[in-house]
Amino acid sequence: MLNNFITLKQILEGYKKKEFTSREVFASFYDKINERDPIIKSFITKLSLEDLTLNDFSMPIAYKDNFSTKGILTTAGSGILKDYIPPFNATVVEKLRNSGFVCIGKLNCDAFAHGTTGENSDFFATKNPYSLERTPGGSSSGSAAAVAAGFVPVATATDTGGSIRLPASFTNTVGIKPTYGRVSRYGIIAMTSSTDSIGHITKTVWDNAFVLNITAGHDPKDATSSCDKTADYLSDIEMGMAGLTIGIPKEYLKGLSGGIKDCFNSSIKTLEKLGAKLVGVSLPHTEYAINAYYIITPSEISSNLARFDGIRFGTTRESFGSEAKRRIMLGTYSLAAGYYDDYYLKAQKARTLVIKDFKRVFEKVDVLAAPVSPGIPPKLGEVVNDPIKMYMMDTLTVPANLAGVPALSVPAGFVNKLPVGIQFIGKNFSEKLLYRVGHAFEQETKYRSPKR
Ligand code: GLN
Repeated sequence: MLNNFITLKQILEGYKKKEFTSREVFASFYDKINERDPIIKSFITKLSLEDLTLNDFSMPIAYKDNFSTKGILTTAGSGILKDYIPPFNATVVEKLRNSGFVCIGKLNCDAFAHGTTGENSDFFATKNPYSLERTPGGSSSGSAAAVAAGFVPVATATDTGGSIRLPASFTNTVGIKPTYGRVSRYGIIAMTSSTDSIGHITKTVWDNAFVLNITAGHDPKDATSSCDKTADYLSDIEMGMAGLTIGIPKEYLKGLSGGIKDCFNSSIKTLEKLGAKLVGVSLPHTEYAINAYYIITPSEISSNLARFDGIRFGTTRESFGSEAKRRIMLGTYSLAAGYYDDYYLKAQKARTLVIKDFKRVFEKVDVLAAPVSPGIPPKLGEVVNDPIKMYMMDTLTVPANLAGVPALSVPAGFVNKLPVGIQFIGKNFSEKLLYRVGHAFEQETKYRSPKR
């Protein structure tokens, strides 16, 4: 019986009805981890069940390894931090802890979250539970794989250019990239400070909204966190999508593989059936987003990684992996005198155009619907040695990061037996609406997906 529960909602209901104890719940998740994580390899650090302090309503959680956890190894997937034990918790970790979540471990990711397949982790590559020869997506590879494999009902993650939505899409899970500034970045090991968004991956949309209710909000320790009031993300979740106008951006339909296109077309038929009005829209500067992102991101990375100077954190700079080195070099180049105007400044101008595209389109539509990735999860080893190929997997996710707008990835079906997601993108601080749309879509489609 216990092996069947997978969602936070089921766990909470079971506790209320006294159907099982928290120790039984945790033990059942640990059973799955012990059985399958030696193959999937989602955890960098696993705490042992005996060491956890549980109370009646405790819920299991695991953190992407770029979230600072007091007294627990925090590597960000990088050899540079292989021995780093933070003396403090990230604000998000603190909030979740205070709400009854108990950390059972830290999850693998691309080093410093640079990557799209998880293979840039300096430790090992995580496998996709749906196909062991393929990537679960990155950079939050461990977070997505752990939730998909049923090791935890929720894992935190970061989305700087797609690292929550893309792995969620590749593993049949739900991932939120909140509005920039909605969730505190304090205590998260920085990648690109102007686009880092803190979110999480779950099995269902309801669970996802439940967790954002805990993590969202202003944090005096993060000057870029928003002072705007948070919403109750669960309150309208059952309202359905009748009366909503959903935009289908034509630029997001270019270059899709055949299977992805078919899957997306059948998803938008579902949206229509559920009562949404679909309109074709254009965000004309979308094609520049990927280029702008891969100038701005390395630039900020070159600054953020300067703190790993070989004097602090115990290791020398020799431990930087090749992707981190590549980004430091590209970033310092784009920012250097003589190149700045042609690269960094130009990229920021393109970014402004991308932001304006979104502003304009959200005057006409409530939400946008788009594919998350142009293709299916690649095989491990297929793109890791070809950075440009890997970067191109991010074309449909980076625009939301450059603009700061929120986006929710929801399972949309299977192509060649591999999971495929759809993303709903909204205007700033519209997470509540995204959950409403995502929930209606999920309720209509979930029974068609295997293994859910
Ligand atoms: N794949 C993108 C990159 O490598 C995004 C990474 C992320 O969102 N952390 O930059």
